[in-house]
Amino acid sequence: MTGKNSEFSLYFHLPFCKKKCDYCHFFVLPERELHKDQLLHGLRKEWQLIKAMCEDKRLVSVYFGGGTPSLFGSDRVAEILSWINPGPIEITLEINPDGVAEELMNAYAKAGINRASLGVQSFDDNLLQTLSRTHSSALARRAVDGIYNAGISNISIDLMFDIPGQTLKQWETSLITACSLPITHISLYNLTFEPRTVFFKKRKDLQPQTPDEATSQAMYKSAQAILPAHGLSQYEISAFSKPGCQSLHNSGYWKARPFLGLGPSAFSYWRGSRFRNIASLNKYCRMLEEGKRPIDFEETLEPAPSLRERFVINLRLLEGVDLNCYPGIDSISLRELESNGLITLQSGKAKLTDLGILHYDTIAAELI
Ligand code: SF4
Repeated sequence: MTGKNSEFSLYFHLPFCKKKCDYCHFFVLPERELHKDQLLHGLRKEWQLIKAMCEDKRLVSVYFGGGTPSLFGSDRVAEILSWINPGPIEITLEINPDGVAEELMNAYAKAGINRASLGVQSFDDNLLQTLSRTHSSALARRAVDGIYNAGISNISIDLMFDIPGQTLKQWETSLITACSLPITHISLYNLTFEPRTVFFKKRKDLQPQTPDEATSQAMYKSAQAILPAHGLSQYEISAFSKPGCQSLHNSGYWKARPFLGLGPSAFSYWRGSRFRNIASLNKYCRMLEEGKRPIDFEETLEPAPSLRERFVINLRLLEGVDLNCYPGIDSISLRELESNGLITLQSGKAKLTDLGILHYDTIAAELI
């Protein structure tokens, strides 16, 4: 898959987890070997059905997300990579800290995984318990070292703020601990109470314990101060990296690079349409056995709303957006945002200001 002009990415949804976290709203299944084999079989069929769509495009990144993809097994991941023959590109595997055995990480590195995304969330044991995570802070630190020692040196970790009971001090300690480890990238998330989660059911008790708005903003700002001081520069609203280690795969989402998602519940964005696979392993496999694409939702936005949406998502990148690429964007709204100090408009580019980063949701609502 080389020598082609337009780029694309592949995403594989591997939904198995040892236990469902109380705040998680993803499509997740209990870990069973039989189901992993069933999924591998389905993925093979799905790839056979869609691979012709990619023939005129250049693959630039592969991402195994979930779930806990590291539970899928290195042989199965190696098999998937043998179908797509990706070459030397960014290949990310999401890993949970309690699944980092040295032998397994060596096998993933050998299979071709060259980037890890580790679901740490916090380095505070009490908060990890609140989140019902299955690892401790010490285990998370050992996991980073274990992945690094296996030769996967491009390591991203997820950290979460706005957790019930979380203090600014705890958050800053987690950030500083993260910076002491051999990582190259951090993605920040704020906890949200999503329907059909345990947290959502308990929201009357838990929501009052979450940090207030001023503390939440202070948490975000402290990340913006602490991480760059340790060599991790902010390049997107929630992403920080060492030089040259920005996530190529995630940058595709922000720049509207086409991607195909395989596996139950996986999303795709292709030729201006968004579609989603069915969120059931059995139905997903059955549809594939019948030779059908396992899609249960599809939408194509009209050109104007699609352009506005892509512009707003692209604006998340702090490098700014080339206005020449978005000729239909309402210049009056942009100038109003500029006069309110939320964006700058210079040298043909729109960029978020520091204030705009904090009020991105307002900007998005204004422009979409
Ligand atoms: S490990 Fe991740 S995907 Fe699995 S249940 Fe927890 S949050 Fe969800």
